Amino acid sequence: MKIRKQKIRIAYFSMEIGLDSRIPTYSGGLGILAGDTIKSCADLNVPVIAVTLLYRKGYFYQKIDEQGQQQELPYEWNPRKFLKLLPRKVTVTIEGRTVSIQAWQYRVSGIDGYSVPVILLDTDVPGNSEYDRNLSYYLYGGDEKYRLAQEIILGIGGVRMLKELGYHRINRYHMNEGHASLLTLELLRDRKRQEEPIWDVDGVRRMCVFTTHTPVAAGHDQFSYDLVTQVLAEFIPVDFLKQLGGEDRLNMTLLALNLSHYINGVAKQHGKVSQKMFPAYDINSITNGVHSSTWVCDSFKGLYDKYIPGWKNDPFSLRYALRIPKEEVWNTHQEAKKLLIDYVNEKTNAGMDYETLTIGFARRTTAYKRADLLFFDTGRLINIAQNVGKIQLIFSGKAHPKDSPGKELIKKIITTSGQIKDNIKIVYLEDYNIELAKMLISGVDLWLNTPRKPREASGTSGMKASHNGVASLSILDGWWIEGCIEGLTGWAIDSVLDTESIDEKDAHSLYEKLELVIIPTFYKHREMWIDIMRHSIAINGSFFNTHRMVQQYVLHAYL
Ligand SMILES: *Cc1c(COP(=O)(O)O)cnc(C)c1O
Repeated sequence: MKIRKQKIRIAYFSMEIGLDSRIPTYSGGLGILAGDTIKSCADLNVPVIAVTLLYRKGYFYQKIDEQGQQQELPYEWNPRKFLKLLPRKVTVTIEGRTVSIQAWQYRVSGIDGYSVPVILLDTDVPGNSEYDRNLSYYLYGGDEKYRLAQEIILGIGGVRMLKELGYHRINRYHMNEGHASLLTLELLRDRKRQEEPIWDVDGVRRMCVFTTHTPVAAGHDQFSYDLVTQVLAEFIPVDFLKQLGGEDRLNMTLLALNLSHYINGVAKQHGKVSQKMFPAYDINSITNGVHSSTWVCDSFKGLYDKYIPGWKNDPFSLRYALRIPKEEVWNTHQEAKKLLIDYVNEKTNAGMDYETLTIGFARRTTAYKRADLLFFDTGRLINIAQNVGKIQLIFSGKAHPKDSPGKELIKKIITTSGQIKDNIKIVYLEDYNIELAKMLISGVDLWLNTPRKPREASGTSGMKASHNGVASLSILDGWWIEGCIEGLTGWAIDSVLDTESIDEKDAHSLYEKLELVIIPTFYKHREMWIDIMRHSIAINGSFFNTHRMVQQYVLHAYL
């Protein structure tokens, strides 16, 4: 179906969008969420256009050496293979230089043929300086100035490009996280009036929607006004900018808050935490989801097609999974597990087997996600594996190039795996991406998540697992507060809020759950285990999907 530009009313802006493993323009959950959102919009015929940057060198390609040292290689890919270069250009001013921006288009095709355009902005244009050509090379690379310049390209360049491309009827601008909030300034300039007040703040606010993803103030993007003045000059008067974005520093979250009529966190708890952080604003919550047909593995797709026809565009109907015979659920999972174990053995020569309880942990490797919590007391872990039931562990995830503690975590897991390999097999798979994630979340028996409370705004990988009948063992934070029904959709690690002994206490609860409940259920009460698998699908798959989420955005934020 041809895109009718006049029909498109909503622009979705995101610093990263993850659509396909071969297009490396994402780093983690935020980008995957953006991609899944667009896919559901395409399935549901929501008149959206998405805007992001191109990233010719991607995030990075991850290699890990035998010591566990992460190496970051530029990701080689050819945009021409997947995207179409559009014939229009716009400019923005960065440090007084005129920077030319071109646009590439990707189309996300929905289930009934409707397609959503994704615009990827690119400054690697002849005539731009070397520095400026590099601005759209690396996702989350470079220094503060580089980041601010990228946000100018995304926010200001993005609004200009949409206009240049003929999308004249856009009346909703959705900022997925604060990185895009400079778009509000371009809209203000667009609507500047002769009479007082010259700035149409209310008008811009009516058009803007803001989704925050960060539950701690330190995580919000901020720039000093010195830098802002140097890079952006007097784009709008600094005194006025300070009223909108903060007195001391330009806080991108604050800017978005001040110029949006609808603001939301990404899970119920996160909405509450954000409301406390910003009491002057009215903050809602729309809990994240995942795109069901992207994240259901092939074997489960076959099973759902047989028992729940139409589930792809109606994932609410996954509730009927309770009627699928247990044996078929189990056999379907074994197929997915076999694919994963074969892959692991081929890549790593770990010699994992199909029968052992297999636990997966994969996500951005950063300190608060505590990939090493399971190794808090390795003696105890070995003891459990020897006396209660065998386990094998599969890890994956990239650490940001500048995140030294994150990189240390990877080393620690590799070192530990060497030390305890006689008792517990552990692998760390390189270069976590969409493809690998799909194999992992469907192939393991248990999905583990151990963030330090209250840092996890939502988390989405557990939602992907539940779509494949894989239960979670997780800290009660983010989405899991809503998704966990103890012993029915998975298990909670009882967590305390940030205190000095939080790691010790959380680890203790984690071991206890494994020892007393999970491992015995897996090996001795298989019927009960399969019942939990079915409830993961029926209760969590049917709800934690982007079809439900997008419908909430349409009703509450876009209309
Ligand atoms: C889903 C996904 C994530 C997010 O995982 P969380 O556990 O929600 O942090 C990160 N990276 C990839 C490749 C994913 O598919």
